[in-house]
Amino acid sequence: MKISAWHRARGDVIHFTRSPYRHLDEPAYDAVYGGAIFKFSEERVRRFEAEWPGALLGGTGSGRIATVEEIPGFVESGLDYALYPDFNASIGFTQRGCRLSCKFCVVPGKEGKPRSVASIADIWRGDPWPRNLHLLDNDFFGAPGWEERMAEIRDGGFKVSFTQGINVRAMTDEVASALSSVEYRDDGFTKRRLYTAWDNLKDEEVFFRGVDTLERHGVPPSHLMTFMLVGFDKKETWERIFHRFDRMVARGIRPYPMVFDNSRRDLKRFQRWVVTGLYRAVPWKSYDGGYKASRVVGPNQGDLFAPAS
Ligand code: SF4
Repeated sequence: MKISAWHRARGDVIHFTRSPYRHLDEPAYDAVYGGAIFKFSEERVRRFEAEWPGALLGGTGSGRIATVEEIPGFVESGLDYALYPDFNASIGFTQRGCRLSCKFCVVPGKEGKPRSVASIADIWRGDPWPRNLHLLDNDFFGAPGWEERMAEIRDGGFKVSFTQGINVRAMTDEVASALSSVEYRDDGFTKRRLYTAWDNLKDEEVFFRGVDTLERHGVPPSHLMTFMLVGFDKKETWERIFHRFDRMVARGIRPYPMVFDNSRRDLKRFQRWVVTGLYRAVPWKSYDGGYKASRVVGPNQGDLFAPAS
């Protein structure tokens, strides 16, 4: 979006695609760029490079470390929302970096220590766009100036989705109170939701201390969707996975397993069982992830998800 805005400001014509393939009717372009977030896109990245020799590639999944700002001649020109006509929220970062350094994470290496980079006024597209903010910050409360950002959100009547999650391990009364005073939402801006994470079993105490602090200030556990990393810890067992899962469910939190190694089919199956909500209806031992989930609605049953053959 940044690259496109820069080119548009120069009067260039943009062609945007998600396909790595070069179609027969495509002209020769003056410049070609590609971005990949995840390593599982490796094959598509290779295909893209073969189709477009000389293209500039970036993003964690591309293996390149250059940023958009390092492109020769690049001039900051905002974001080109025209690439995503169905998206009507405003997206951006108020800060970069993170206070922590989780072993599996690229953020500390790529972004360093937290620093403030933009205000809410800088990020919001302005009228007539809805006051919906999709913040990509990795550690919103880690950067100086978060109090002013929260005041901007609250006083401006914004709905905010902290899509990368808030750090529940570093929860304080001040942060919890500020969170409870704003309209936090899921990424569709329809449900009350805060995203957070419990990745290591050893963080059990500090995780629930954060959950308690939030609850004390009016943020119930049912508003929390918690990512739980699976497949990374060398000491991981199913017992340890279920300990985390069961404790969250018992507290009314929605767990969301994040599988570190996508080749682990057992963990992918566990992920499906959880994110489809099937865990509420089908015991793990009887769940066959090979079956498709179908919706079953019976009299007085409400909605129930069950495996269909
Ligand atoms: S808290 Fe989140 S952003 Fe920070 S290092 Fe850990 S995983 Fe990465």
